Amino acid sequence: MPAPHDRRVAALASHVSPPGLPGLAPNPTSTPRVTDRVGGFTVAVLGAAGGIGQPLSLLLKQNTLVAALNLYDVANVAGVAADISHVNTPAHVRGFAGPAQLGAALAGADLVVIPAGVPRKPGMTRDDLFAVNAGIVSTLVDACATHCPRAIVNVISNPVNSTVPIAAEVLKRRGCFDPRKLLGVTHLDVVRARTFVAEAKGLDPAGVDVPVVGGHAGATILPLLSQTRPFPRDGFTPEEVAFLTNRIQNGGTEVVEAKAGAGSATLSMAAAAAQFADACLRGLAGARGVVECAFTLHAPTFGNVLKGDKDAPAFFASKVQLGRHGVERHLGIGRLDAGEKRGLEIAKKELAASVAKGVAFVADAEKAASSAERGARDAGRRDARAAAGTFHAAGPA
Ligand code: NAD
Repeated sequence: MPAPHDRRVAALASHVSPPGLPGLAPNPTSTPRVTDRVGGFTVAVLGAAGGIGQPLSLLLKQNTLVAALNLYDVANVAGVAADISHVNTPAHVRGFAGPAQLGAALAGADLVVIPAGVPRKPGMTRDDLFAVNAGIVSTLVDACATHCPRAIVNVISNPVNSTVPIAAEVLKRRGCFDPRKLLGVTHLDVVRARTFVAEAKGLDPAGVDVPVVGGHAGATILPLLSQTRPFPRDGFTPEEVAFLTNRIQNGGTEVVEAKAGAGSATLSMAAAAAQFADACLRGLAGARGVVECAFTLHAPTFGNVLKGDKDAPAFFASKVQLGRHGVERHLGIGRLDAGEKRGLEIAKKELAASVAKGVAFVADAEKAASSAERGARDAGRRDARAAAGTFHAAGPA
């Protein structure tokens, strides 16, 4: 049994373990101080050193439901972990750098939040990020299947309309897809809708709710202003509906342009992701009545929220009730007004194409991997034959 002083030094040192520094235990093997806290959860943030990852990790460090906070990135994560670990809240913070430490970052995770990947620059759509982020998300989710197959996964990396279907396909192939536990984070659209509606109507944004359904890109973002609660006494004029819908759909672009090449929404996204992660954790902890909008598989597993609609895309953002296993119930999209119905038709088509693109990415990657494997096997056989030929040619007379 180490002396209390040694235990304290080991605990303090556990988050700063640059490889090769003598006397410090390597991060991934350090013992968290508080994993036995009642109700405490282990949360892993993948992409923790990024623009979203850093403030998100800081906010999660302040969440009293979090007992262990594992911060993973391919770059610069040791400093972020050391910095955040000094905040005087109980969550135990550890940093994990690079693929060799990914498994340790994920082991025992109850919730994995993924903001890893490249953000937009002015002039780019979220779909322009597909080429890079599809591979990142699929690799990270594959690691989740190995190291924490029962964890809830929150996907932030864009384009969410495709990266969530990619994650689902990867998990299916690994035999551990539980649609209740895979959630695309569209909560920033809800956060924006609450803020913009409150501003327009002179309300307190903390007391306003506006469901935003569909997906998380341009026209697939469908704010349901007609379901605003509390509904403004003077309602919305057609001009207000057009202005607010457009601003909510293009809020991300507003930030991308204002940042002028320095990235996309990070701080508001971190706030949104932290609120959403907190909702997932409250659900896991058994709280009742936790309801948020999220982008999930909704058909056929949960029944079709777009009742009887044969063109409904397999993934769709709608209100869901969160519980001990993730999504417990889809609450549907309620009654839409005429403008929202028109918006829904546009959103559905675009969503179906984005979902199909994600599904095709995983199928193509699988084909490429098996043909590479066949190629390697054939090359191996050719080498063996050539070696045998050499042996016969040079072998004993
Ligand atoms: P960023 O470039 O600042 O940070 C990304 C981080 O991911 C970096 O630290 C990078 O090192 C890390 N990373 C890259 N590849 C990785 C890998 N294979 N494993 C682990 N980490 C890896 O970008 P950001 O501004 O934080 O945005 C991150 C993502 O979130 C982008 O795809 C962006 O489009 C998306 N986003 C989503 C929403 C949403 O509402 N869902 C909102 C804003 C941004």
